[in-house]
Amino acid sequence: MSRLVVVSNRVALPGENHAGGLATGLRAALKRRSGMWFGWSGRVVREESGHLRKETDAGITYVTLDLSRQDYVAYYNGFANRTLWPLLHFRLDLADYARETRLGYFKVNAMLADRLAPLLRDDDIVWVHDYHLIPLAALLRQKGVGCRIGFFLHIPMPSSEILTALPDHAALFSTLYEYDLVGLQTRQDVERFISYTRLLGDGMACTDSTVHLPNGHRVQVGAFPIGIDAERISRQAADGVSKSAVRTLRASMAGRKLAIGVDRLDYSKGLPERFESFSRYLAHYPDKAGRMTLLQIAPVSRGEVPEYKLLRSQLEQIAGHVNGLHAEPNWTPIRYVNRSFSHSTLTGFYRLASVGVVTPLRDGMNLVAKEYVASQDPSSPGVLILSLFAGAATELQEAMLVNPYDLDGVADALSLAANMPLPERRERWEASMALIRRHDIHYWCNSFLDSLHPVRPERPPIELPAMRPDLPACRPQ
Ligand code: UDP
Repeated sequence: MSRLVVVSNRVALPGENHAGGLATGLRAALKRRSGMWFGWSGRVVREESGHLRKETDAGITYVTLDLSRQDYVAYYNGFANRTLWPLLHFRLDLADYARETRLGYFKVNAMLADRLAPLLRDDDIVWVHDYHLIPLAALLRQKGVGCRIGFFLHIPMPSSEILTALPDHAALFSTLYEYDLVGLQTRQDVERFISYTRLLGDGMACTDSTVHLPNGHRVQVGAFPIGIDAERISRQAADGVSKSAVRTLRASMAGRKLAIGVDRLDYSKGLPERFESFSRYLAHYPDKAGRMTLLQIAPVSRGEVPEYKLLRSQLEQIAGHVNGLHAEPNWTPIRYVNRSFSHSTLTGFYRLASVGVVTPLRDGMNLVAKEYVASQDPSSPGVLILSLFAGAATELQEAMLVNPYDLDGVADALSLAANMPLPERRERWEASMALIRRHDIHYWCNSFLDSLHPVRPERPPIELPAMRPDLPACRPQ
């Protein structure tokens, strides 16, 4: 069996608490294939980036490097999180474009390729993750790496109209053609990417799952919706109810129902709209006011990026306003918490909650939606309210699907969910849970790796458009 090499922006090092399913699934696949996990250590240092550190644990080799502050600012905070993240989440209004950060992004990718190439063998399978590392395969190919390389994008792939708004977009997105397999979360993401590749032209012929390049090479494109470690989450949730944090939360509810939201503090998650929707629910259903509390857990994320600072202060204002409007001396409608919790506590919280509120404006998948379902008590499950614009909605059709921009619609869904009769709750939950169990994180890993074809056809390298600092700000594409 070929060795597996996983490359991701951030490596989940042994001993670090990465309770999410992704680290578990990747570690299981790496262990089976005596694999290596390569990427950034998460540390920012005064020195130059790039000094390699190696450690082995449970049959897996971890190779990491630190980033200098300058590289971290340009590559991670800059092009990855201020340009690509908003662009790929359909937020052209928030995408900040600067040639300087674009160059920093390519510089870090080139440095990663430089350090990784000598560690690779011809029969390795390399699996690159996410938007931080789009050009990595092209940069590895330039160094003569010929093994199979796959890419998975964890976040959405927007339409070609949005992609083409990125200055010099072809120079970035055409590097995806150097992968053998490009995996996206949903069929809609695949369709949007294929339609973009048609628009790029260059004599490429596409079917609905393959891009044919002028040099005869084919890139396979497929939908691989990511799953969770369903069995583990269910077990954790059942055990979690006896944890003291969970018992304290239950006691504090004093018989009221709990609606829960768990999201990084990110503008893609639709948090201001969610707070407003909850406020409308309280206003439109005054007889229910005081009977349900919204607990919003929103750990601060990317706190150095200006758009996130602004969102944080907006949310504080809205939460304060809603609470001021509706609170009673013995009841606060929205409990807004900026700290993060371990998975074992979160799953216990999910199980207490009658309603899970997952209403992003755009999300690649949204693992919290699946975790909420997997944490429920089968004899009396809660109800998931899920945005139509989360990748999870393509699978969890039995959730209460809502448009997060329709504040009145979400308010109505909150009322329906809180009062749904047990037989309907069970029916919806069983259908969702069956799918979550079937398509868990291990299924996701295996189906992606099985699709990376065992034999890589010989092909000449393609000529990549150069990323030059002297490009005009705008040029016809
Ligand atoms: N999470 C966590 N502790 C927290 C908040 C979130 O462990 O306090 C986890 C959550 O359980 C989920 C992940 O972070 O596994 C978030 O994944 P999701 O796909 O929902 O959103 P993302 O943050 O990747 O956009």
